Amino acid sequence: MAAGVYIHIPFCRSRCSYCDFATDIYRDSKVVARYVDALCRELRATGFGGRSHTPESNSPRVGPDDPALINTIYFGGGTPSLLSPTQVEQVLDAVRERFELSSDSEITMEMNPATVTPETLAAFRDLGVNRASFGVQTFNDRDLKLLARGHDANDARETFRMLREAGFANISFDLIAGLPGQTMTDWKVNLDEAIRMSPEHISLYLLEIHKDTPLAEQVRSGRRRPIDDELAAEMYEVMLEKLAEAGYKQYEISNFARPGSESRHNTKYWYLDPVFGFGVSAHSFDGQRRYANQRDTSKYVSMIEASETAEVEREDVDLASEYAFLGLRLEAGIDLAEYEHRFGYGLHERFGDALDELMHCGLTEISAGRLRLTRRGKLFSNEVFAVFV
Ligand code: SF4
Repeated sequence: MAAGVYIHIPFCRSRCSYCDFATDIYRDSKVVARYVDALCRELRATGFGGRSHTPESNSPRVGPDDPALINTIYFGGGTPSLLSPTQVEQVLDAVRERFELSSDSEITMEMNPATVTPETLAAFRDLGVNRASFGVQTFNDRDLKLLARGHDANDARETFRMLREAGFANISFDLIAGLPGQTMTDWKVNLDEAIRMSPEHISLYLLEIHKDTPLAEQVRSGRRRPIDDELAAEMYEVMLEKLAEAGYKQYEISNFARPGSESRHNTKYWYLDPVFGFGVSAHSFDGQRRYANQRDTSKYVSMIEASETAEVEREDVDLASEYAFLGLRLEAGIDLAEYEHRFGYGLHERFGDALDELMHCGLTEISAGRLRLTRRGKLFSNEVFAVFV
């Protein structure tokens, strides 16, 4: 089984009003260069993967069956497209020193509008980056201001054009629904424009208002009113219909793709395949345990420079539970026979009455030996998943 590698780049040009990720403002290129050096050092010293450990490695981790082989790399953030091509090359070289990269690997980079040029995009392509996860969010300038995204809709259109010109044939849009003040008409206009641009993949997020963010403060003070749950549910329904009509297949609760363009990297998380994460706040899963790195960037860099591990948490995973609720996120659902084969007992033996209750409420259904969310179950997915945690 091939694993995946996740690389976290925490830097952004500015901070969006809804963001609660571990991010840092890109102020000083020397800080970024130092971070990239630390990241490469962490990669070369890691206990994950099958190649010999360097003397610096002090993290005795166990890898998957064929630990050296990976077939996906994902640069996430933050805004990884703020890195220079030379820095991306540095990181990819460090990955290749530690892991065997399959020749047909999917290499994704998260990119935000107005953070790239035709030259940097061409250089990223030459380095092997073959998928762009593009942070469009909305084509409505009023909403982009509300989100403090630091770009307008024309920047998104122009960056998309540059991506195509640079040869990116696999582009995913991130869209956010449920913004304060957003109407159904706004949402339909957004979807129609996204569909007209015809990316290969679309990810939808319903806006969550996290406490201690500027947006939460605007809502608390009454300056913004969140939309109600009913409208958010209708937006999700409209999205299902419009994307299906346009030929996108829903393969996960928030993800839609043209056939063959599903995200190979993200699919690993839903099937509990190993993914090794590097960088500040990165998480790893080796098939048994989950590991988390330090969340503060300057502490992360200091720890790595002192030849310490950046790992600050490690926990055993309840695989039978996670396999169930992650499997339900997928359109394919859970293969009940496969579940029993994998864990030695049936899903019903483990979750019994709760499972019956979900079926009874019309939130899940069984067909062809698979348990799936119904359309209604997708709208109440958090309630369903809570049963398995
Ligand atoms: S671009 Fe993404 S990571 Fe950066 S501040 Fe905005 S939401 Fe947060």
